[in-house]
Amino acid sequence: MENKWLRDTIRDFEPYKVPEIQEHTIINANESPYNILDFPSVKQDFYAGLEKLPSYRYPDPFAEDLRRALSEYAGCRPEEILATNGGDEIINLILNTFINLGDQVLTHSPTFDVYGIDAAVLGGRMLYCPDEDGFVRNASAFKQMIVENQPKVTIICNPNNPTGHIWPTSVIEEFVRAAHNIVVVDEAYLEFANQESVIPLIEKYENLIVIRTLSKAFGLAGFRLGYGVARADMIDALSLTKLSYNLNSVTQLMGIVAMRHRDEVLGHNVPPTIENREYLEENLNALPGVTAYPSASNFILVRVPDGPALIQALKQADICVRFYGAPSLKNCIRISVTTRDVADRLLTVFRALMKGE
Ligand SMILES: *Cc1c(COP(=O)(O)O)cnc(C)c1O
Repeated sequence: MENKWLRDTIRDFEPYKVPEIQEHTIINANESPYNILDFPSVKQDFYAGLEKLPSYRYPDPFAEDLRRALSEYAGCRPEEILATNGGDEIINLILNTFINLGDQVLTHSPTFDVYGIDAAVLGGRMLYCPDEDGFVRNASAFKQMIVENQPKVTIICNPNNPTGHIWPTSVIEEFVRAAHNIVVVDEAYLEFANQESVIPLIEKYENLIVIRTLSKAFGLAGFRLGYGVARADMIDALSLTKLSYNLNSVTQLMGIVAMRHRDEVLGHNVPPTIENREYLEENLNALPGVTAYPSASNFILVRVPDGPALIQALKQADICVRFYGAPSLKNCIRISVTTRDVADRLLTVFRALMKGE
């Protein structure tokens, strides 16, 4: 971008362009198909709270009530939580807190773009450990990169976006032990995995930070609520550069209400998503030429012989999916798993296309 005052580290950045989406079925951002305000119990509590909300007061800067509610769900103490404006904010805070110009940040590839972008702003140097064939991550190579480089921050997306691959807790623990510096485990999609969170490991490891969000399983992407979990002194460090009032009152209220009704919300939202993921995986893999990679998440990465043709056919079927420019993701699309109806429409498009080839 052309602006003579730009800081050096962002001179190559391009202005963010909001993609123009004409399609009506939008499954490109791993959003939930369910609106939390459609739960009568949630709606009633939230509206009752809104009526009592004083608009002229600043929100609680440390969201004490919300942290208490989140800590019960996360299985930790309130002081081990930092509630943030989406998971994006905690990623940003972690790098802001620890990265000096030139410090190394290790992650695997492909993964969530935000890690690399936030590190670049600070002048951090990214190290990527490439996946093996089939988007399986290479645990021994990754551990070796930790040991050899001792990067200032190591970030593991688990389950990984966009591949859906998950590492078991035992493997994550090995990485945390091998690292002398910070290890971040981004569990944005954990509720869809058949695996427990690594949060209990914070008792044993002072260098571990876990990221969670209410954007995916709780369907609260629009409200912007995520949180980091770590030892209390680590939470204090992460709060050093936080905006004073990072979380508005309405979001804090919604978070408390969502936690109060979490069993009902998750019980409704998660099982059908997992069921439809398995349904899609099985039916897509039955098509010759199509590979649906095993996913522990609410999306599936799919490889076809002709990616652009598939995207075109999906557009014509009024469906918007995510595709990529990176060479390793050539001919791959990522589809968010939503309802059975959408799954069947997807399968119709895939079947028609594969027959034509
Ligand atoms: C969606 C997502 C997040 C968090 O998103 P927010 O909406 O900012 O909470 C974090 N990490 C990954 C890998 C994600 O896909």
